[in-house]
This record gives sequence, C-alpha cells and structure tokens, in this order.
Amino acid sequence: MACYDCIQENRPDSTGIGICTRCGLATCHDHARVLATHVQRANGMSRSTSRLAGRRVVCRTCLAAEAA
Ligand SMILES: [Zn+2]
Ligand SMILES: [Zn+2]
Repeated sequence: MACYDCIQENRPDSTGIGICTRCGLATCHDHARVLATHVQRANGMSRSTSRLAGRRVVCRTCLAAEAA
C-alpha cells in the first residue's frame, strides 16, 4: 500500500500506515496525522460519549482542508 502523497512526490516506494478517514486514500507516517476522536455509543434511548478517546487517520491534504 503506497502513500498517495508520496506517489505525487515521486516516492512510490513509501509504506502506507493507514487510510485517510475523509478521502479514503492510503497515507504514510510522514503525510498522516492520527487524531483523537470522541466516540459516541448507544446508551439506552440516548447516546453518550465514551470516556476513552478513539482515533482516526487523516491525510495532510484533508487536515489542511479541515483547518482552512
Ligand atoms: Zn507519504
Ligand atoms: Zn484525506
């Protein structure tokens, strides 16, 4: 699994560490950010937020778009 951003930068032999949760492209350690995310869980009729944070992988491009 090659990182999409690395392919764009002529480094096709990089190793992807995950899939961006926003765009679905493979991304590597250099181009990805792993962010903590709150997890909603069902709690009877309502929903509550778990005390433990989950995580999600976002690529550099999507992270920049989220911050813009
Ligand atoms: Zn990369
Ligand atoms: Zn992305």
